[in-house]
Amino acid sequence: MYNTILVPIDISEDDLTHMVIPYVQAHTALNTAKVHFLTVIPSQPYYSSLGLAYSVEMPKMKEFQHAALSKLDEIVKQFKIPADKIQTHAVTGSPKDQILKLAEMVSADLIIIASHKPDISTYLLGSNAAAVVRHAKCPVLVVR
Ligand code: ADP
Repeated sequence: MYNTILVPIDISEDDLTHMVIPYVQAHTALNTAKVHFLTVIPSQPYYSSLGLAYSVEMPKMKEFQHAALSKLDEIVKQFKIPADKIQTHAVTGSPKDQILKLAEMVSADLIIIASHKPDISTYLLGSNAAAVVRHAKCPVLVVR
């Protein structure tokens, strides 16, 4: 039985999100676990996935963070977990570092993560997933 589950979400990858939904639901079926959803804003090409154009008049990072959080809040609705059991987070930085950092901060006892982008078959485990598996201090469920 898990109390605190961390689910990192790449908000630009709907397919990956759909893959993890049944696994998150299976581990939250009793509605006892708190689920933290985290999205990390790593770099500028990412902003286009938020519907934000990169321009000279780039809004401040805070606004990106706000947009990312809004998108994450939308995505999270698909998981059909009661609102009081959910917390969403949007931060900037390196996805793997921020995932591991939040796992420690909230004392996650399970991380559920997709293995890699479906279209990149060269890697059996993406770089972020690999680092999380290697360095996490709690069990990691890798969804394939
Ligand atoms: P790939 O290199 O194929 O994208 P990754 O290891 O980056 O593989 O992605 C696997 C998983 O890592 C994703 O399903 C997601 O759970 C997590 N992840 C990747 N990028 C981010 C991000 N920017 N924010 C939150 N989680 C992420």
